[in-house]
Amino acid sequence: MNAVPQSTIAAQPAPSARVAEFLKRPRRLLIGGEWVEAQSSKRIPVMDPATGKEIASVPDASAEDVNRAVAAARAAFEKGPWADMLPAQREALLWKLSDLIDQHADELAELESLNNGKTKFMASIIDVPSTRDYFRYMAGWATKIEGSTFQTSIHGPPGMKFHTYFTREPVGVVAQIIPWNFPLAMAAWKLGPALATGCTVVLKPAEQTPLTALRLGELIIEAGFPPGVVNIVTGHGETTGAALVAHPDVNKIAFTGSTEVGKIINKAATDTVKRVTLELGGKSPVIVFPDVDLDSVVGGAANAIFFNSGQVCAAGSRLFAHKSVFDKVVEGVSNAASTIRLGPGLDPQTQMGPLVSREQQERVLGYIQSGRKEGAAIVTGGEAPPHEGYYVKPTVMVNVKPDMKVVREEIFGPVLVAQRFEDIDEIAAMANDTPYGLAASVWSNDVRTVNRIVPKLRAGTVWVNCHGFVDPAMPFGGFKQSGFGREHGRVVLDQYTEIKSVCMAV
Ligand code: ADP
Ligand code: MG
Repeated sequence: MNAVPQSTIAAQPAPSARVAEFLKRPRRLLIGGEWVEAQSSKRIPVMDPATGKEIASVPDASAEDVNRAVAAARAAFEKGPWADMLPAQREALLWKLSDLIDQHADELAELESLNNGKTKFMASIIDVPSTRDYFRYMAGWATKIEGSTFQTSIHGPPGMKFHTYFTREPVGVVAQIIPWNFPLAMAAWKLGPALATGCTVVLKPAEQTPLTALRLGELIIEAGFPPGVVNIVTGHGETTGAALVAHPDVNKIAFTGSTEVGKIINKAATDTVKRVTLELGGKSPVIVFPDVDLDSVVGGAANAIFFNSGQVCAAGSRLFAHKSVFDKVVEGVSNAASTIRLGPGLDPQTQMGPLVSREQQERVLGYIQSGRKEGAAIVTGGEAPPHEGYYVKPTVMVNVKPDMKVVREEIFGPVLVAQRFEDIDEIAAMANDTPYGLAASVWSNDVRTVNRIVPKLRAGTVWVNCHGFVDPAMPFGGFKQSGFGREHGRVVLDQYTEIKSVCMAV
């Protein structure tokens, strides 16, 4: 890698004519198949995190706007083309949408980069193709939703027999509230299973990153989804999001975001007994055993925390390395960190973009400060480069103790805390010493070590000799305070369907 000083940050290149044109057009709400003005004239500015400048604005939807969106979703669910559609037709629509994503891949990657701060390069090799593939994978499930028949032992009147079976029906109107770290992919993770199962949706993107979801809304109309099947409302969490969660005609909430907000949503959803699935925060351990190949561990551990500027729920934010390799691993990861080239997302030279917002930058710097105060040592990084934009240098901290805030709390930024361990039998307990349980990775070539530790880790995903890979077929979700319910795979269908038992006297 090129050792360009991290304070030398390039200027954000101008967007393409196509994206510039998209940014100029007024943004509205998608309700009932139309782009409509919000009831209130309040707007939310949308920033380019690389410059801190406003690039667009979106409506701040009110409770009344939410009512309209839910009513449109309800109407589409109850009657009309969507309610009568054959599973194979839903499959075809999802495929059409995935093809449109493919046709507009470059534009979507650029828009994602501009709004979120991640590099266009990463958006075009990860976010956009994984969004396309997610819809394709979920399209296949539309035609494979099954119940079953079973035999009963009911003692009915003499001579009466029973035909019994259960079916799966779509859960109904789903409110989907998503975060800002993978705006387009998170929309796909939510919309894919809802549309495959025949639900209708009100989607609320994060207030920081609404643009690709709104562009996706245009593609959803172009693909031919009937009006009201997907509605998109932009707005703040505490108002627009809360109105969705409280709405009595919403059957299910699917939320990805912070544990703090997940708890609020879960409480609020209780009043009307909504179905809830929560994919929340994490503080995932990366556990390095003494027998490893150091080069691959160093690259893997650096990637586990620095990918997407550390703004990943499953980021490997706690490194535990055996004492015999600790110094080498920390040195390697710190060297990697100090040579990552920071810059704006549209510059092809950039390896790591800014954080999503000023608020997030301040939060992350606050955590670094708290680590310093509590006695942690900074091996590399630890500050923002003196430049516009919401940058934070990739940071590695050592001399940390289990009770420090930087070890206990999710930072959601490019900050790694490294701890050494001695006793292999103790490491599972150290790794599990967290309220979270989203993911973990284990690095060892010794199959006995791997098989001994994997069952002990209280985490929804355990990677072995890799970290962070996700796939639509692989269930994803959390133990403990990382949430409940699973996304992806066959199991996600359970979260979007109700089971109906039918007992027929023959
Ligand atoms: P962050 O703190 O990083 O912004 P959040 O968990 O607050 O993460 O945000 C994730 C999503 O949850 C966003 O779409 C946000 O608008 C939404 N949200 C935040 N607070 C609430 C709330 N009280 N009710 C419903 N949605 C909310
Ligand atoms: Mg928030």
